Amino acid sequence: MTIDLHNHTLRCNHAEGTVEQYIQKAIDEGIDIFGFADHAPMDFDEKYRMGFEEMAEYEAEIREAAQTYEDRILIRLGYEVDWLPGHMDERVLNAEVDYLIGSVHFLSGWGFDNPEFIGHWKEQKVDEVWERYFAEIAEMARSRRFEIVGHLDLIKVFGHKPERDIRELAEEALDAIAAAEMSLELNAAGWRKPVAEAYPSLDLLRMAYDRKIPVTFASDAHKPEQVGWRMRELKLLAREAGYSEAASYRNRARQMHKF
Ligand SMILES: [Zn+2]
Ligand SMILES: [Zn+2]
Repeated sequence: MTIDLHNHTLRCNHAEGTVEQYIQKAIDEGIDIFGFADHAPMDFDEKYRMGFEEMAEYEAEIREAAQTYEDRILIRLGYEVDWLPGHMDERVLNAEVDYLIGSVHFLSGWGFDNPEFIGHWKEQKVDEVWERYFAEIAEMARSRRFEIVGHLDLIKVFGHKPERDIRELAEEALDAIAAAEMSLELNAAGWRKPVAEAYPSLDLLRMAYDRKIPVTFASDAHKPEQVGWRMRELKLLAREAGYSEAASYRNRARQMHKF
């Protein structure tokens, strides 16, 4: 079974390709359960996401595609939601979708994974940034509003590695994720970034396995050709940490599958 729950659409203004092209590529790649989780609307960083007025259209488009393709592939509908206190919206958090991915892309409004703002890293102590990042992940888990943690160690995107032991840095966040019964995604996008590693690292995955946190898989595709890329290697990474089952979601309920 191949599961891929994190893929974008044109609506976020920084992706390309039609919904049909993504689905066709997913079918070609042998994906069994394919989910769209486009960037949810928010009154911050509006440039890189759909507007609130587009939600109904987005949801209808994916639901319709799910029916059209149901004999070839299972399509799921979700959102990737920014954990950004003060800017999250109940229309998104209560959307009637299959799952919500919670992602930290901002620390006090700093888009740390955006190359435009990479200069800000120079003014920071790397370990402190990692501490703040994992504190936000822990808060997100405690909110219990999301099913999946997006790219757990995105903070490494440009290769800034902490001096402190990662296991110590991430412990509280992983305990919170386990307590909230969330899943973690293995996300291939990190291989396309300067860090050139999948998210999360094997160390973090092993910690997750020890806590019985389920995993799922993510191309995080922003172009149809990125769908399914290095999925085999993501599975190997999950197996190396001990996993043999992965999660998918329907109406915000988890289902487990052998992969
Ligand atoms: Zn994106
Ligand atoms: Zn993301």
